[in-house]
Amino acid sequence: MAARTLQACAACSQKAQTVALRGERLCRRCFLRRFERLVRQDIKASLPEDWSGFIVLDPSSEKLVRTLFAHAPIRVVRAPAASVRSPHVMRRRGLIAAAKGRGPLIALPWCRDDEIALFLGSFGSPGSCAPLGNPPPFIKLFRQVSSAEYEVWCRLRRVPAAPPPAPTAAADEFAAFAASHPDAPFSLLKGIDTIATLECGTPKEIKSQGTRRGS
Ligand SMILES: [Zn+2]
Repeated sequence: MAARTLQACAACSQKAQTVALRGERLCRRCFLRRFERLVRQDIKASLPEDWSGFIVLDPSSEKLVRTLFAHAPIRVVRAPAASVRSPHVMRRRGLIAAAKGRGPLIALPWCRDDEIALFLGSFGSPGSCAPLGNPPPFIKLFRQVSSAEYEVWCRLRRVPAAPPPAPTAAADEFAAFAASHPDAPFSLLKGIDTIATLECGTPKEIKSQGTRRGS
């Protein structure tokens, strides 16, 4: 087994085995702290006022919400994982209706890459009603991090990562572009949020009307 080299953590300067987060090499402790702060900020900004907990579809989502909301009086309900990446399937299964009736949000283990793939894939397929952004009853937990960063977090927290979405040509092309333009995914995510707000309103605006894009 090859000797592992130690590097100085960009946050705490300690020599350690490091992992990458947003271009910085961090020790495991600093990685977890920063990663969870990033996703917590995004989740809290998207929570409607009347949320009461989460329906989780996979172990990584359950781990995250139980970690972030360990001291909050919320309910966490497990649901079958088969539909983990498909709002359409969840709608058919009545999960959305259940969420509306009981108050919890449906937590999806989506990363920034998933959101971008959804956005790029929506061109040329009119009628797609997969929701961009975070319209209730959905909340996408990992939008502030890449798939690679999400997988590192899962490894460190000892939970299986949800399977990635099927690759698409558009998503692959954007990933190749982003390899030489590292700010591009962040800019695109901001644009997606703007479009989602134009289409659906903010979480607080739409909390009383549910997902307008649903059928
Ligand atoms: Zn550190």
